[in-house]
Amino acid sequence: QAGKSSRNKQAKLVLLGDQGVGKSSIALRFVRGEFHENHEATIGAAFLTQTVNVGQGSIKLDIWDTAGQERYHSLAPMYYRGAAAAVVVYDINNANTFTRALAWVKELRQQTTNSVLIVLAGNKADLASEHRAVPVEEGRSFAEENGLVFAEVSAKTGMAVQEVFMTIVILKLSSL
Ligand code: GDP
Repeated sequence: QAGKSSRNKQAKLVLLGDQGVGKSSIALRFVRGEFHENHEATIGAAFLTQTVNVGQGSIKLDIWDTAGQERYHSLAPMYYRGAAAAVVVYDINNANTFTRALAWVKELRQQTTNSVLIVLAGNKADLASEHRAVPVEEGRSFAEENGLVFAEVSAKTGMAVQEVFMTIVILKLSSL
């Protein structure tokens, strides 16, 4: 969604992925710099905004945090259509959530134009040393083969969360 003036732009972002992978926590970390150990499940979808200053201008990011439960799946197109970018999240400690993330990528490829930037984000990297189930190479090579931006992140420690959103801003800026 293009903003009207060249200086103050707006972009819609959507977070997708299984329930419990940390979508809400990633959004909360980015927007408020907070983390909650027992975060309540998102019902339907939640909405957060964050304005990022870039050079002389700014971009207002409208972040849609969708519910991961299968019963809300049919609502997802409302959120990813017209999005500048989609962040598909999995939990690196849970292989099943990686499989589900790949299905989300496939759906996005089929249902949206190529202009939607897709980020594959492996969350809960802080637990990797003891609980890792998805090798980092697996995420990275899938991303490379499918033209996605890839990062392992931790909403808990904040690792790479800011970078994911800044990468989106930088890559999308010229086309907004
Ligand atoms: P969502 O359903 O995908 O939105 O997931 P939530 O954001 O509600 O997170 C689910 C649970 O995982 C919560 O108890 C969070 O505190 C926890 N969590 C989220 N991100 C991380 C992380 O990076 N590291 C760890 N250790 N726990 C996390």
